[in-house]
Amino acid sequence: MAILVLGGAGYIGSHTVDRLVEKGDKAVVVDNLVTGHRQAVNKNAKFYQGDIADQEFMRHVFLENPDLDAVIHFAAFSLVAESMTNPLKYFDNNTAGLIKLLEVMNEVGVKKLVFSSTAATYGIPKEMPIKETDSQEPINPYGESKLMMEKIMHWSDLAYGIKFVALRYFNVAGAKPDGSIGEDHHPETHLLPIVLQVAAGSRDKLKIFGNDYETPDGTNVRDYVHPYDLADAHILAVDYLRAGHESTAFNLGSSKGFSNMEILKTAREVTGKAIPAEFAPRRPGDPDTLIAASDKAKTILGWNPQFDDIHKIIATAWKWHSTHPNGYEDGR
Ligand code: UDP
Repeated sequence: MAILVLGGAGYIGSHTVDRLVEKGDKAVVVDNLVTGHRQAVNKNAKFYQGDIADQEFMRHVFLENPDLDAVIHFAAFSLVAESMTNPLKYFDNNTAGLIKLLEVMNEVGVKKLVFSSTAATYGIPKEMPIKETDSQEPINPYGESKLMMEKIMHWSDLAYGIKFVALRYFNVAGAKPDGSIGEDHHPETHLLPIVLQVAAGSRDKLKIFGNDYETPDGTNVRDYVHPYDLADAHILAVDYLRAGHESTAFNLGSSKGFSNMEILKTAREVTGKAIPAEFAPRRPGDPDTLIAASDKAKTILGWNPQFDDIHKIIATAWKWHSTHPNGYEDGR
């Protein structure tokens, strides 16, 4: 048995491939390298460069690897702000891309799919922490494109028997503890990488978007989860489907909230750097607080996150950023 990892050269995908290889599992990786990095892919995984919407190419990948029985799908765009100005890019790549993928999976008879969904499918939550059964009313096209993916999966399960697990991530942060793989987006828009780029001297200062939110210190509160822990949840979700269980969705977060100011303060402690910062206007589409209830993943999947301390998470990210101030361009 082997697992096909789509988007395996991206941030979370590359950590998952690494974990699979470490466990001795066979991983086949597909990535179009539009945002992914070839150097991020563990050398013991088989790599194909191509697009998941290219059905001829995907048929070829499945035919060449007849032992594939499950797919983990990370190949999507994920920037809220970009989705607001270019929604069709998100509905085309994320939503229509899934349809193309499912057609081929159905054709070749591979009927297990674990895929990245998001806390952004919930929109503005009415209660905290957020449970899987809470209403899903996205407030941006990114969240909408992922909710549409969940719905397409539901009907494809009923019609074609393609079983799925949708994993709704909260905020992902951190890197492989040895600092050899990590987060590298162009342009970078996420809080922790930006904070640590300022610490590493490759950026002048941090702008904190909004300090008048309904939170204890006025800055947004988010729930941070390490890519290793996410990777393990994906692998457990494949086991869950292989055991013949029903399709479902799980939240993945630490169930603890940290404000943007708390992240900055902790990063100053971890790095020992000043990290200049200033307040700036709110960013459109940011809910006040997002914290996950993750009991379902713990109970049903047996998920046991190891990086349960924000200091530890930031320390792993710093190991990556301090040794790769220009990301993978450093060629190390
Ligand atoms: N944020 C910020 N300055 C930045 C980048 C992000 O203040 O340069 C804030 C953002 O407004 C949000 C939090 O950091 O409150 C997390 O944002 P990020 O883009 O990392 O993740 P998202 O929550 O959008 O998935």
